[in-house]
Amino acid sequence: MKNFKKIAAILLAVLMVVSLAACGEKKEPAPDTSDTPADVTTAAPADAPEGKKYIIASDNAFAPFEYLDTDTGEYIGIDMDILAAVAEDQGFAYEIQNIGFDAAMNAVQSDQADAMIAGMTIKEERKLTFDFSDGYFDAGQIMVVAADSEIKSLEDLRGTNVAAKISTMGADYAKSIAEEYGFTVTTYEDSPTMYQAVMQGTNSACFEDDPVARYSIMDQNLELKVVGEVIDPKPYGFAVKKGENAELIAMFNAGLANIKANGVYDEILAKYGY
Ligand code: GLN
Repeated sequence: MKNFKKIAAILLAVLMVVSLAACGEKKEPAPDTSDTPADVTTAAPADAPEGKKYIIASDNAFAPFEYLDTDTGEYIGIDMDILAAVAEDQGFAYEIQNIGFDAAMNAVQSDQADAMIAGMTIKEERKLTFDFSDGYFDAGQIMVVAADSEIKSLEDLRGTNVAAKISTMGADYAKSIAEEYGFTVTTYEDSPTMYQAVMQGTNSACFEDDPVARYSIMDQNLELKVVGEVIDPKPYGFAVKKGENAELIAMFNAGLANIKANGVYDEILAKYGY
């Protein structure tokens, strides 16, 4: 009986060692038996560091891309929905901070945020300091004037003061033609204060992203109208500080491709009238 117990104990120990070894073996990568050609990329997601929660900065008032839903106190919009869908698809955690466009760019550059999604145009000069994802929406600028304004063209801006939002494509464009058309430019912190300045007559016009101007005028019943042609349409991208968070860009691109393929991207755009 004593011997039997001893043998049983030894057997048990051997079993445990064997099963532990088997567990260890499971961690080894399985031999590749698939006949997939080497140049075909799989849908395997890029890896986020274990337990990482990305801080993602955004604009504070840029409908229909990010804007406050006054009923819920939550930020909604195309960017907010795309980011949520991509994060779910790729399985990464994030916290969104709607701090304003210029503030978001500064937050990324000063490492206070890991990335930004803010209707941000992929622009060559920005590539010196940011890495961008694939484009997810095309937009150009448009001139916006008061609903009762006589201004119909750039020529009509001569001798006036034009509004623009700080650090944006609209501000760059206004400044680039200011001398030629004989106007000065005042920059504002965000889109709502820029619109107010034009509605109140402080400024003759402003330059804003076309879809944002049209959506805001309609959605908020602003006493404004768009005039002229859309200027220089370019894609929006998700951005990180140059050389950092490369896995986040890889995950965004993979997730964007997946939500385009499975119809979620189209559903998001349709929700906002596109
Ligand atoms: N698309 C414009 C830019 O990148 C404006 C972005 C914004 O105001 N959120 O400059």
